[in-house]
Amino acid sequence: MITKDRTRDTKEADFGSKIGILGGGQLGRMLVLAAAEMGLKCHIYTPYSDSPALDVSPYRTIAPYDDEAELTRFARQCCVITYESENIPLDSLRILSRYTSICPGIDTLKITQDRLQEKEFIRDLGLPVLPFYPVDNEKDISHALTQTGLPAIIKTRRSGYDGKGQSIITNHDQISTAWNRIKQQPAILECFIPFSKEISLLSARGKDGSIRTYDLPENEHQEQILRRSRVPARISSNLNEKAEHIGRIIATALNYVGVIAIEMFVQESPEGEKLIVNEIAPRVHNSGHWTMEACSTSQFKQHIRAIMGWPLSDPKRHSDVVMENLIGTEVENWQNILTSPHSAVHIYGKTEVRPLRKMGHVNYLKPFSSG
Ligand code: AMP
Repeated sequence: MITKDRTRDTKEADFGSKIGILGGGQLGRMLVLAAAEMGLKCHIYTPYSDSPALDVSPYRTIAPYDDEAELTRFARQCCVITYESENIPLDSLRILSRYTSICPGIDTLKITQDRLQEKEFIRDLGLPVLPFYPVDNEKDISHALTQTGLPAIIKTRRSGYDGKGQSIITNHDQISTAWNRIKQQPAILECFIPFSKEISLLSARGKDGSIRTYDLPENEHQEQILRRSRVPARISSNLNEKAEHIGRIIATALNYVGVIAIEMFVQESPEGEKLIVNEIAPRVHNSGHWTMEACSTSQFKQHIRAIMGWPLSDPKRHSDVVMENLIGTEVENWQNILTSPHSAVHIYGKTEVRPLRKMGHVNYLKPFSSG
């Protein structure tokens, strides 16, 4: 479906002056708002007419990702195109790339939208990753379980997010159920490990190869969905350095431009704490929402700076902070949350509240000066 809107009235004079964003969720919305604060206009391209980013974007296209004519019209108006989700068809990006630059690049998306390719990429860089096994049927799962042991977790190679496309297997009788739960899609299997913490590294790489890193958040998940991020993470400076080192290797190997998030597990071992890379997100990330109030430059502004080829900010943190997601009906509690001192509430304007849907988030700040 294509709606008529002001995009159609855009004159050639506007060519090249807008930032294109593929996807219209909350990440797109916050990117649009950040860009606007820097005097830049965005154009959202989304297949869904109820996308929350449409409310705030001056230019928009509502069309399927395989509509070549609309993609072409969109690309011809944008000086650069970025995305807020990994789940954009590569063919769409190839069409767009005929007219303008895509940041982060298509090769990065190709790797990160397939868990198998992503894990292979991380392993081949010599970085720590859990052993993983591609599985395409129940027999493969059964065989992979002989390698991983129990419990194990099965994850679809593509299109998984917020725990969707995942299932934990605690005994062999659950193989069929798990396979059906992930809708019999190509997947990977890995052991389900006890970890002491989850952290994520958020950094930005500029067009000149410079890298700036945020302080590390410690992330808590429930039902495989991010519940809250605390900053700073309670980890040693040694582990902190190791995480930054991993981030630097990955961003450089991808020749990355933009904000990147790398999710890692901290595992206790007889030799001390060690890091295991779980996932790369080639975009701004939920575990970086605290940067909106606790840092001199938010992850959204930093991403815009990077893709525009502008100098990156040194994103100093001036508060400790806990970011809480507002999931499902929790958003209805916004008035109470507002009464809390040093709280900043962000509501995404989604029209329908659904269980386990991210509806907003709150940053609870503890400024360094407040003791
Ligand atoms: P993912 O989609 O891989 O980021 O997984 C979502 C969440 O599920 C993670 O943040 C963890 O909390 C949990 N999880 C994923 N993989 C594993 C694993 N191999 N062992 C333990 N927990 C996991």
